Amino acid sequence: MKMPVGTVPSKQQLMQSDRQVATVIDLNKCMGCQACVVACKNLWTEREDAHHMRWMSVATAPGPLYPRDFEKKGGGYDATGNARPGELPTMVDSGDAFTFNHQEVLYEGNAQDKKLEPTSALGGAPEWGYNWEEDQGAGVWPNPYYFYMPRKCNHCSHPACIDACSRNAIYKRKEDGIVLIDLDRCEGHRHCVAACPYKMVFFNPVKQKSEKCIECFPRIDKKIASACNRQCPGRTRAFGFLDDENSLVHKLVEKYKVAIPLHPEYGTTPNVYYVPPMSPQAFDSDNNLTDEMRIPDSVLEGYFGKEVHKVMDTLLAERQKKKDGGSSELMDLLISRKWQDRYAEFTNHPV
Ligand code: SF4
Repeated sequence: MKMPVGTVPSKQQLMQSDRQVATVIDLNKCMGCQACVVACKNLWTEREDAHHMRWMSVATAPGPLYPRDFEKKGGGYDATGNARPGELPTMVDSGDAFTFNHQEVLYEGNAQDKKLEPTSALGGAPEWGYNWEEDQGAGVWPNPYYFYMPRKCNHCSHPACIDACSRNAIYKRKEDGIVLIDLDRCEGHRHCVAACPYKMVFFNPVKQKSEKCIECFPRIDKKIASACNRQCPGRTRAFGFLDDENSLVHKLVEKYKVAIPLHPEYGTTPNVYYVPPMSPQAFDSDNNLTDEMRIPDSVLEGYFGKEVHKVMDTLLAERQKKKDGGSSELMDLLISRKWQDRYAEFTNHPV
């Protein structure tokens, strides 16, 4: 991940790209199976110095998500465009790196007396871990609810990480807007970790460098969709260039405007977009169905901003057309009967 050779460019040049790739994630279809997380981990962070990192994560919402409580750790920009101060997540916030007593329980004949116990990378019992609150959600009977929130670097169009780097080590690739760290330039000051409001940059304490999602750029160069996107068994993901009018990402983001970013108020113009979840109808206190949805509007607005209300109106109206026996191009696009329809030009096999 080396920066193109030449004079040190300005921040504006580091942030510029000719085109932009984007990911769309349909939260109505994500089943929390973690296949995307495993695909990413196996490729990029399955190594001793990176066990605590998940460049791709799926956590249960509402909840502290991943890294833990990232929404309370600042970074990004305020409404006037000024940088907001940010905090560093701890190693435990990033999910710890448990080990288990497999040897003792499974290979030394103790399975009848002992059980598998995790040990924190810091020693002792873990205080928190990745997906610690899985499927807890919120709401009270008879209207409990949750949904899954997959997250990775947004490859933002105005990345706070680039702005914050004192070494000018972070840049957007000209050809597709992927945000990369030049590890030869990085000195591990971690300004990028604090500045990213999504806390999607991770510190490698062994190499003393910052690392993050690289959107599988060696695959992108060969027209293979990034591993998290391609490995999703639920046809939840779409990937492609935002300006490619034939791509599903363009249709969902620009044409139908039903895919919107998480926390747009952070001011970094993210390029991961979400189709918000349509939850079941809520019950009233007499157990009769109401016209309200189980996931409160205020919760959706808290994640996706006010735009989410228009999106929900569109999604519900289009779904109703189908229910009434009519047709809806949008619903057909969201269903995608062929996986190839989701990845635009990035359908080559990862051989
Ligand atoms: Fe940088 Fe964070 Fe945006 Fe990724 S999500 S480009 S790390 S500011």
